[in-house]
Amino acid sequence: MRKLSAIEIILAVVSFLIWVVIGLAVGIWYLLLSPFVGILSAGKYFYLKARRVIEKMDVPAVIGVVLAPFLIAFIVLYLIQHRPPMVRHRIVKPPVLAKVPAKTFPPVTATIETPVIPDLPQPKMPLLAAKSGDLDGVLLVLDPGHGGKAARTEFGVDTGCVWQSRGQDFFEAAYTYREAKEVADLVRARGCDIIYTAWSPSMEVETPASLSMPLPQNPRLPSGASLGNGSAGLSARAAVATNALATYGKKYRLIVFVSLHIDAMASDGWQGIHVTYDGHAGVEPRYTELVAQAISDGHYARTYNGANPVAASAERYMVINGAYNGLRQRVLLETGIPGNDTDSWRLRNPESRRKMLQAVVVEPLVKLALEKEGK
Ligand SMILES: [Zn+2]
Repeated sequence: MRKLSAIEIILAVVSFLIWVVIGLAVGIWYLLLSPFVGILSAGKYFYLKARRVIEKMDVPAVIGVVLAPFLIAFIVLYLIQHRPPMVRHRIVKPPVLAKVPAKTFPPVTATIETPVIPDLPQPKMPLLAAKSGDLDGVLLVLDPGHGGKAARTEFGVDTGCVWQSRGQDFFEAAYTYREAKEVADLVRARGCDIIYTAWSPSMEVETPASLSMPLPQNPRLPSGASLGNGSAGLSARAAVATNALATYGKKYRLIVFVSLHIDAMASDGWQGIHVTYDGHAGVEPRYTELVAQAISDGHYARTYNGANPVAASAERYMVINGAYNGLRQRVLLETGIPGNDTDSWRLRNPESRRKMLQAVVVEPLVKLALEKEGK
């Protein structure tokens, strides 16, 4: 036999109780109330009659009638309190994520930082560290997402994702090049050398010799839509990493590839950062693990409506696909959702952006360099 659901039990009990209450009400009327109504309306004769009626009643019956409503109320409350769960699969509440307090956001009227790409230096191959430090002997291949050589718009032929804010279009590439420059500054101050897969003096992306293929032209899509930048450009970026390994593999004790992106999502509710890795064979997962841990520790993990944080996921994007990219330590980072207030603020605020890049790119790299030293 099928088990009755809680709602069915409650409905059965309630309908039974309604029947009991109606029965009791009729009983109360005839046994108690009608004599009192009689008292009010017909004076002493009815009063005496009522007394006779009451005298005829036995005490337990009176107590029962008086206590019955309280007993019924108690049973109903007990059933409500102890009802079984309505759904078979309880939804496990995700941990509450720390959020940037609202008061730290700039006022609504604040001018949005204009996405101007910093002038990056002409890339030597590699761009040498500015200082010696705990990243000595490490080479970082930095891939700022998107941008195209054959610039068709102000922001290049491949703008990456586009989103709108207060009537202005903003382009993913405008931020990824800035982020790449900031990561480079941070790690070069600690001994790390850099190779850019692409860079831009003013968003018109120049290409190193190894990235000579022009990126295919893409039509501009409506705001919020992502513009892929074509397989030729992407495989050329991955080839920079493979070339770096072939050319400098002996010179450096560690070579890591990081591709930087910003993610436009079709639906609201998305927030946060996640690291993407090639889940196939030939990948050394340690940098991915360290980055994912840093994302979780910093409460940056990708969530949907604040729930189910995910710091890492396997996606075989071309720039980190082992068929094109020969480096063993290679990740692609989606550093935020521009449509989300918290992320948007973090991406635009230079201090919080640098803090985020320090936490999720630089510190994991330092940890990895230390671990490799021990071997
Ligand atoms: Zn992208």
